[in-house]
Amino acid sequence: MIYLNGKFMPIQEAFVPVLDRGFIFGDGVYEVIPAYSRKLFRLNEHLNRLQYSLDGIRLKNPHTNEEWQSLLEQIIDQNESEDQYIYLHITRGVAKRDHAFPIGVAPTIFIMSNPLLPPPAALLETGVSAITAVDNRWVRCDVKAISLLPNVLLRQLAVDAHAVETILIRDGFLTEGAASNIFVVKNNVLLAPPKSNLMLPGITYDVVLELADHHKIPHEVRQISEKELQNADEILLTSSTKEVLPITTLNEKSINNGKPGVMFNRLYAFYQEFKKTRMRNPI
Ligand code: PMP
Repeated sequence: MIYLNGKFMPIQEAFVPVLDRGFIFGDGVYEVIPAYSRKLFRLNEHLNRLQYSLDGIRLKNPHTNEEWQSLLEQIIDQNESEDQYIYLHITRGVAKRDHAFPIGVAPTIFIMSNPLLPPPAALLETGVSAITAVDNRWVRCDVKAISLLPNVLLRQLAVDAHAVETILIRDGFLTEGAASNIFVVKNNVLLAPPKSNLMLPGITYDVVLELADHHKIPHEVRQISEKELQNADEILLTSSTKEVLPITTLNEKSINNGKPGVMFNRLYAFYQEFKKTRMRNPI
C-alpha cells in the first residue's frame, strides 16, 4: 500500500500525470526513513533534513511534522514487514512545462514502503568492493533531490565493475559514495569528511559519529585526500538501508587484507545495540 496525494492505495493503482514536474524536470526532493519493529528510526532527523531539502529547492513543506508522522505510521501499518524503509517523495506538482515555478499548484506527495532486509551475514564477513570516480555532480549535494542522474551513472560504474559502490573524489578529496557516506580509518582513528554542500548530511553518518563520541573512539572530521583513501587501514560505508558496511576492496586492491577490520566490528556492534535501544524509545 502506498500514499499518493491524500489517498492510500495499492501501488498498482498509483499514477501521476506526465506533466508532473518530477517527471519533466526531476523537480522535487525525497527522504528514505528506516523503521525497525514498525517504529520509525531517527524520524525527527529525517524530517529536519526533509525541511532543509525543501528550503533548498524553495518548496513549502506541505505538512507539519505531526502530519508526516501520522502518514508514515499509517503506511507502516498497512505494509507487512516488521522492518521497512519508507520512501517519501515531494515534487513541485503538475503544470504546463515551463522551467519557472508554477503559481498556485499543489505539490505531488508520494510515500511507499519496502521491506528492510539486513545485509546478508556473508557480506559482513567478507566486506564489499568499491571503485573510485570523479565526483561530477552539481554543487548542492546537501539537498536530497530526486534528480539523481549523476548518481545513477556513477553507481552504474560500480555495477559494471562488479562492485557495490562508487566512492566519489572531488578536487582530490573524498566527498561520499554515489548512494552512501564514506568513512576512512587510519592508525585507529576514524576519519569523516566534513559536511558541506558537496555531500548529503547522512543520518547514519551522524549516528556513527555520535557512537564514536559516546564510546570514546578517536575520530576526526576533516578533509580526506584521495591518497589517504587509497592508503586506508579500513573503509566504511553508511546509509539508512545498508547501515554500516566494510569496504574491503578498493579499485581491485585489498583493504585490510580483504577483511573487515576492528573499527568496523566495533561500530557495527554499537550500531546494532543503538538500534535496539532506540526501538524501545523511538523517535
Ligand atoms: N549520500 C548519498 C548520495 C545518499 O544517497 C545517501 C542515502 N542513500 C547517503 C549519503 C546516506 O544517507 P543516510 O544515512 O541518511 O541514508
